[in-house]
Amino acid sequence: MRNWERQAAADASLCTYQLHIIVACPRILRIGRLGVFRFPAGRYFYTGSARRSLLARVRRHLSPDKKRRWHIDYLLTAHAVKVIDVILTSDGECQLNRRAVGEIIVPGFGASDCRARCGSHLKFLSEGKN
Ligand SMILES: [Zn+2]
Repeated sequence: MRNWERQAAADASLCTYQLHIIVACPRILRIGRLGVFRFPAGRYFYTGSARRSLLARVRRHLSPDKKRRWHIDYLLTAHAVKVIDVILTSDGECQLNRRAVGEIIVPGFGASDCRARCGSHLKFLSEGKN
């Protein structure tokens, strides 16, 4: 069991997850009906929630084989895109999203049911330049 799996199994109050994603090289991707966007190489945070089945939801995100349904599915099934870490918390989804410093690359990404006007639940952190 991975760390976050152990954590989710032990604590039923956890409902929010944040995926730390690496895009290894610049990609141009269609994100469902949102349209086509350029994703610079670098680090991204995606924040979501699943009140009843957090473990199943995060496992689904990490699974390469799935029918693309959510915006995040279009990103995570692309080549050169990888989840490197999973953070779980009992904080609200938008609360955690707002704490993640980063740039909005795709307005509205994962934010269809966001009531806090986050603008996007995907944040781009850096080009990975040193
Ligand atoms: Zn939000």
